[in-house]
Amino acid sequence: MIRIYIAHQRYDAWLVADRLNQAGIRAHVFNQYASSIVGDVPPDVAQPQVWIERECDRERAQVVLKDIETAGARTGSRRCQSCDEESPANFDLCWNCGETL
Ligand SMILES: [Zn+2]
Repeated sequence: MIRIYIAHQRYDAWLVADRLNQAGIRAHVFNQYASSIVGDVPPDVAQPQVWIERECDRERAQVVLKDIETAGARTGSRRCQSCDEESPANFDLCWNCGETL
């Protein structure tokens, strides 16, 4: 497993993992509930992280990340009416509960 991305927000990590999986790269989110312990441990340990399974996917994963960063320049977030989680503005569905945003 290779750590490919450290997110500031949970939905950020989910966005990255989702895009990677769509690109055929098996990715997982870790630490998604750990932000409450920031302050007790170094931030790069406590923040949500995206890991990929295979070393051979690393280069493609970097390309996907680059695309997301470029697209992310024009995003904000919006709050789900159903579960109150925030999702990136470019999401059509809530990442958490699947409700239309
Ligand atoms: Zn929701």
